[in-house]
Amino acid sequence: MPDNRMIPAHPPITNGLSVDVEDWFQVGAFENVIDRQDWDGLSLRVEDNVLRILDMFAEADVKATFFTLGWVARRNPALMRRIVDAGHELASHGYDHARVFNFDRKQFGADIKLARDILEDTSGVKITGYRAPSFSIDERTPWAYLELAEQGYAYSSSVAPLAHDHYGWSDAPRFAFKPLPWSDLVEIPVTTAILGGKRVAAGGGGFFRVLPYAFSRWAIRQVNRTEQRPAIFYFHPWEIDPAQPRVPNAPIKSRLRHYTNLGKMAPKLRELVQEFAWGRMDMIALQEAGRAAALAA
Ligand SMILES: [Zn+2]
Repeated sequence: MPDNRMIPAHPPITNGLSVDVEDWFQVGAFENVIDRQDWDGLSLRVEDNVLRILDMFAEADVKATFFTLGWVARRNPALMRRIVDAGHELASHGYDHARVFNFDRKQFGADIKLARDILEDTSGVKITGYRAPSFSIDERTPWAYLELAEQGYAYSSSVAPLAHDHYGWSDAPRFAFKPLPWSDLVEIPVTTAILGGKRVAAGGGGFFRVLPYAFSRWAIRQVNRTEQRPAIFYFHPWEIDPAQPRVPNAPIKSRLRHYTNLGKMAPKLRELVQEFAWGRMDMIALQEAGRAAALAA
């Protein structure tokens, strides 16, 4: 017989924890100042930062999903095995961070296939999850889900359902949905909260670094308690690396966004991963599949 004393009256909702594994020079904010062809001459810091994240997750006893660039996996094969051996999910972030809305369908198909082949070869596990660079699946890319479904992906977490200056699909559903009527493919958008009747970003990125932790706590509680849904949170390895090289010729707005509060990020993340219940995105996708609404045509 199960021991009921071990079961809390209201078990906490498990939220989706994710890391977008890219290096400091691969972020969207710098794509016009750092040429892809120069990437190989820059210092690689992603491995050390991911190892620190693995330690942090081990300490808090949480499992997460690492959406990783094929470019990074190719240069750090041992790191891919470390991620998988620690019980985390390895998933795809595309090959070299090109945004989906800059591709046509054929180019997108080639990009996700290349990234997946490298991730599977280096890790030895099957890749079933995908996150578009800079949340770049939106109303301009209806073919993206066709391609993901045809290539056998189980889920995508590639939509920011709000208006933002660089990305966003402002009228997408806020919670899991099925973008194709004939497929089980699930899209799990990054978390937004409702503040003053408006959708606001609450799933990580610059907002998490810039705003006090109390805002994120409030937002995740709103999603878990009021809406009874999992929150989906993401961050990047470079965000816990205050010593990363500075990119002096980037626009001031990009620099402000990229470098603010890097030194405070690790303790803030530690608080976040310890306060809430977290799990891998493939598990969240399974849980949410039954509740995912069909996307209205
Ligand atoms: Zn990214």
